[in-house]
Amino acid sequence: MTVRVRFAPSPTGMFHVGGARSALQNWIYAKQQGGVFVLRIEDTDAARNKPEWTEGILSALDWIGISRGSYEGPYFQSANAGEHRAAATRLYESGRAYYCDCTREDVQARTGSQYQGYDGYHRDLGLGPGPGHALRFRTPDEGTTVVVDLIRGEPTFENKLIEDFVIARGDGSPVFLLANVVDDMTMGITHVIRAEEHLPNTPKQQLLWDALGVKPPVWAHVPVVVNEKRQKLSKRRDKVALEAYRDEGYLAGAMRNYLMLLGWAPSGDREIVPWSVIEDEFRLEEVNPSPAFFDEKKLRAFNGEYIRALPVPEFIDACQPWLTGTGTLAPPPWQPEEFDADAFAAVAPLAQTRIAVLSEIVPNVDFLFLASPLIDEAAWTKTMKDGSADLLDAAVAAFEALESWDAESLKSTLEAVGAERGLKLGKTQAPVRVAVTGRTVGLPLFESLEVLGRERTLTRMRAARLRLP
Ligand code: GLU
Repeated sequence: MTVRVRFAPSPTGMFHVGGARSALQNWIYAKQQGGVFVLRIEDTDAARNKPEWTEGILSALDWIGISRGSYEGPYFQSANAGEHRAAATRLYESGRAYYCDCTREDVQARTGSQYQGYDGYHRDLGLGPGPGHALRFRTPDEGTTVVVDLIRGEPTFENKLIEDFVIARGDGSPVFLLANVVDDMTMGITHVIRAEEHLPNTPKQQLLWDALGVKPPVWAHVPVVVNEKRQKLSKRRDKVALEAYRDEGYLAGAMRNYLMLLGWAPSGDREIVPWSVIEDEFRLEEVNPSPAFFDEKKLRAFNGEYIRALPVPEFIDACQPWLTGTGTLAPPPWQPEEFDADAFAAVAPLAQTRIAVLSEIVPNVDFLFLASPLIDEAAWTKTMKDGSADLLDAAVAAFEALESWDAESLKSTLEAVGAERGLKLGKTQAPVRVAVTGRTVGLPLFESLEVLGRERTLTRMRAARLRLP
């Protein structure tokens, strides 16, 4: 039997990192089993779906390595509406479902307490289809439903605690629970690997599989993803969109490596490993069922390591979208014609060891491309003190006299200027750095000045000096 798995996102918002994690787990499982990965867009909630979210899912999957054309689909749930209705009719005709026109208030009036689920009132009243008549599944009164779950063992549910749930609304439209099962059935899905949040639906869905006469799939409910307060990652509170991480300059390789560590780890105390190792070693059965902490700080550190591991030319290429403001990225503060690829290449190795996400390249190198630096006024006030004017005057004079404009000469020259004033190099550098780059932190100063060149460095130092009393 060929293993067939599916990833079934609903296009109702940005693509959630937890979804990306489930997609990757499905992807690897299919690959390991020689199976097929199916992408199904669950777009039946017309009020909340938007086509751009579908496009966002496809491109985010592509980015993370699940590329278009390498899987089956995308299928659209809405295209299967006929099958959903046919299944509802079959369940009604076989007596496994019945119509009911009770409102919640009706049930409450009968049961006299808080709404505790439907009371089965219409089970044997023989109500037929009609406007406002919902179709309910007749759950078995006895026995248990045992879910075979590769991660959670065999969660067992008492059937008598499962209410006769709605499978088609009063307007005849099948609900998600049924549509999802019918799609999995028609697509021949053998393994449903999805988020833990769906586990409460699973016994109901398995009863539907049974009632429709098809062997249910094997399930695997992967752990919920939580923030540092152990709250489920939510789009209102946390940064959850895969696209947001991409736009900030996380590398796809780092991201997918990190996502696979949510609830699982490769052998031998390693965390950062080539994708091929993950593909070999990942075992769905080994995924820890407890909530998985999405640690953004750790992801950042990971990403820094991935950036540092890039060959320099690849790093240079990877930075281009931020340097040019491609796509949805903010344009950089310089004009395109001000950008100097050679100057960038000269400082790229220095930047590569210092940034954790690619977007940080922009504030590190903007001083090279702008006619005058963007002065951070807080940094200016903090740095420019009583002796700064004298220091800048002396540094300008000493730099003017330099024969060779290279990092080493610049450093020893400035060091001497500082020493004459009883200052260590750090203190001497600070006003020069702010004058030239506008900031207190950045790339190594003397290499920066070498690349910036004599003219521009001196012009900026003189301009800064003029601002001082
Ligand atoms: N469309 C559902 C979701 O996005 C997935 C349901 C499933 O995987 O079975 O949460």
